[in-house]
Order: sequence, then C-alpha cells, then structure tokens
Amino acid sequence: MRWLSRTFEVQEFERCRVGRRAAIVVTFDDGYLDNWEVAKPILERHGVPATIFVATGYVGTSREFWWDELERVFLTGGDRPRMFSGCVAGKQLTLETSSPEGLMAAYNYALSLIKTLQVAEREAILDQMRVWAGTPATARESHQIMGREELRELARCSRIGLGGHTVEHQLLSSLSPDEQWRQIKGSCEQLSGIIGREVRTFSYPFGGRSDYNRWSVEVCKSLGLSRVAANFPGQLRRWTSHFEIPRMIVRDWNLEMFKEKIGKYMVL
Ligand SMILES: [Zn+2]
Repeated sequence: MRWLSRTFEVQEFERCRVGRRAAIVVTFDDGYLDNWEVAKPILERHGVPATIFVATGYVGTSREFWWDELERVFLTGGDRPRMFSGCVAGKQLTLETSSPEGLMAAYNYALSLIKTLQVAEREAILDQMRVWAGTPATARESHQIMGREELRELARCSRIGLGGHTVEHQLLSSLSPDEQWRQIKGSCEQLSGIIGREVRTFSYPFGGRSDYNRWSVEVCKSLGLSRVAANFPGQLRRWTSHFEIPRMIVRDWNLEMFKEKIGKYMVL
C-alpha cells in the first residue's frame, strides 16, 4: 500500500475514471473480517481509499463462505474416510478420498459442481460433507466474515466504500434474469439497510467473462449503479463499460512480485 500510494494516483472505485496520471483502485471481494481487522488500519496508514464488496447473505452468521467450507472439508488435514458418498440435487455423488491426490481431486470437483447449484442444494450437500468430515459449522477464526457492526464502522470511514456482491455468492450466469435481479438488488438493498447509505457499486461473484452475462449487466444498469467490477485483468480505458471494469487479482505475493505483476498493466 505504501508503494502503491507513492507510485500511483489511487482513486475510489465509485468515481474511477481515466485521467492524465496512471491511477489504480483497490478493492476487496466477499466481506472477510480481516478486511476490517487487518486491511483497514493499513489502508488508513497510507491514505489509500478502497472498496469492499459484500456477499450480504453471510453477514451476521457464524458461517464460512461455501468455498472455504469445502476447503476445510477436503484439504485441512485430519483423518477423512476413504470415500465420500452423498446426494446432490437428487443424484448420487461419490468421491474417492483415500489419498492427498484424491482429496484434492474431490475438492476441485466439488468446487466446480457447487458453483452451479441452487442455494438449497448447495447447503444440503455442504451439510453432508461437513458431517462426513466431522468439521464444525462455525467459522475458523481465520475465515470469519464481517458482521453488521464492522460494516457500519467501515461505512463511517470516509475513504472506504462498500458495494454489493450478491446475497448468496451465486454464479450469476447460471441464474434466470429474475433470480439475478433478486441477488444483485437484494445485496445492494441489504447492505444499504445495514450502513444507512445508498449503495452504488457492485462486483460480479467470480467475475470472469463467463461468470455473468448480459442480464447481469442490464440489472446493474437498471438499478442505477455507478460502477461494477468484473474479474479479468485489464485497464480502464475511455471506451470501457463502467459495468464491466476489469480487475487484476492479487495473490499472496511479496513486493517484488507485486511490482512485476502490476508492471504488466502499468508503466512504472
Ligand atoms: Zn466473491
């Protein structure tokens, strides 16, 4: 953040635009508690504005996001039975889990399967997996999600913006236009109700080009949102739609690697 703030103009997502200077925007997806505990003090220290997109259906629960639960079930060690057998959307699901490779393959398969499920089906298979693995439903400390209080506090920070990210973190392209409307509008309204302020930004869950569709864009436009983030690398140009703003995902890199990656898109 220190390097970013010294190297670029840092803009707010809600008002980001093409200017004369090279500019960047900082965003976080989902609404993890560490955004509040870890990121906020760092952002404030360096005067960096940021926007956080929240999957509102998880706010105020003691749950983990569904992909974190899956990781916990299959990849966090401990003894697991040699096979998972369950029922998903009326069909039998059997996964071989007798080796680390098997567990990894089972995790990857379950991840792509669950991504396309309706919420009730998703919760049903997660329940079965949790029982199978013997993992609790309560979130690990490291994977907690912000509650209403943290969101309200964040909303009071002048340089932190909050945006929608659907209610249930569903794959929008797998939903009907009506369901997309409920998910997108629902998250913006719920968030607005929590923070007592209008919500004008949103990010598509997963955010790749095939993870949302023209209906998703239409819904965001008709809700009057000002900026919407996707998740494929690129730069905001004068001709870029404000409803599909590209973003570069940042992993757990050191500064050198971070500079190298940023350098692919920005002249340093
Ligand atoms: Zn997300």
